[in-house]
Amino acid sequence: MSLIVAKFGGTSLANPQRIRDVAARLVAYHEQGHHLVAVVSAMGTSTDDLLKLARSVNENPPARELDRLLATGEQVSMAIMAMAVEARGVPAVSLSGRQAGIVTTGAYNKAKIAEIRTDRLTRALDQGCIVIVAGFQGITAEGDITTLGRGGSDTSAVAIAAAIHADVCEIYSDVEGVYTADPRVVPRARKLESISYDEMLELAAAGSGVLQMRSVELARNFGITIHCRSAFTNTPGTLIREETQMEQAIVSGIAYDKSEAKITIRAVPDRVGIAAEVFGKIAEASVNVDMIVQNISEHGTTDISFTTPISELRRLKPVLTATVARLGAREFIIDETVAKVSLVGAGMKSNPGIAAKMFKILADNDVNLGMISTSAIRISVVIEGEKVESALHALHTAFGLDSDEIFRETQLSGEELAAKTAKGR
Ligand code: ASP
Ligand code: MG
Repeated sequence: MSLIVAKFGGTSLANPQRIRDVAARLVAYHEQGHHLVAVVSAMGTSTDDLLKLARSVNENPPARELDRLLATGEQVSMAIMAMAVEARGVPAVSLSGRQAGIVTTGAYNKAKIAEIRTDRLTRALDQGCIVIVAGFQGITAEGDITTLGRGGSDTSAVAIAAAIHADVCEIYSDVEGVYTADPRVVPRARKLESISYDEMLELAAAGSGVLQMRSVELARNFGITIHCRSAFTNTPGTLIREETQMEQAIVSGIAYDKSEAKITIRAVPDRVGIAAEVFGKIAEASVNVDMIVQNISEHGTTDISFTTPISELRRLKPVLTATVARLGAREFIIDETVAKVSLVGAGMKSNPGIAAKMFKILADNDVNLGMISTSAIRISVVIEGEKVESALHALHTAFGLDSDEIFRETQLSGEELAAKTAKGR
């Protein structure tokens, strides 16, 4: 008998049939004697729909009211889920963030969990109920409703798992786990049995977003094993846990990100303090910068290149125009067609030559490198966007990640799933 926290994402709750399927899964666990806390996201796209609704009456909705509104999405799913479980004859109780004792900081729209007062939750478990908790939401010490940022239900689930000392935190979504690469782009991608927290964080930062990053950080800090798996199958997914020293893959996964642009400021006078000045102004505009490269030229000028999310270009452009004028630089160029490709693997720490091999493979495949950056377990390069697919395929094969099987999305019908779940696994 274990204590299980199971989180369900919006897609797995998108309609009544899917809610019934999840309820069947919970009831099957209950019948096997497990204690269960289910953390639910809002149904389907309802968080987006609520956001649109808010913006239709106010382009800049007040943060406090927005959180109040967004929190209703999870409150619908928790109540519906409790009803669906009760329909199967098992006692269930739904708890809002407040009722589950999730106390957060007061930063609306991006609150952090400060404390979880678990007494009510534990009491409900002791009474034999399946406890359904609304993800994504909490309450400030003053009693105002907050939300944890998009994708925050993952963080709710991990925090609850830590607070009640759960044996495992299962996170159910529409993907079967963490893959060596995005299987929609690289059909020979392999599902990983397990991956370390650090590798998962690097992959997430490099653009392969399976979980909210904060949830992985939290899991690492509290030593919670996350089991990331599909709500539509019974296949085991990927375990995210402390890395085992034994079998460190040199490359565990390859991520790509097309959401960034490359900016080059050309012919900036080369003198002390220039970089500090350029990036100081960019930081003042709260624009995030990722990779930076500075090329010294012969004539006392330098080119500075960096990458930044395309979504921040609107804020960045006026800063660049002013900077070019003030410094007497020639111009700035924005290239939105680039892509970042990253190799991640804990084994890089102890295996030299991975970067060289990566560059050689890319060169052999006629892929030009724009920028390069590394961490202890990651190598990232910026390349032309249209070469992403060929680069991913080549790297995936060369680093021995290819699976024998071709990826195919598996999705059982509601009846098939209910039948399988009822049999246990
Ligand atoms: N419903 C929220 C969102 O869409 C929280 C979550 O799904 O984790 O961001
Ligand atoms: Mg999510």
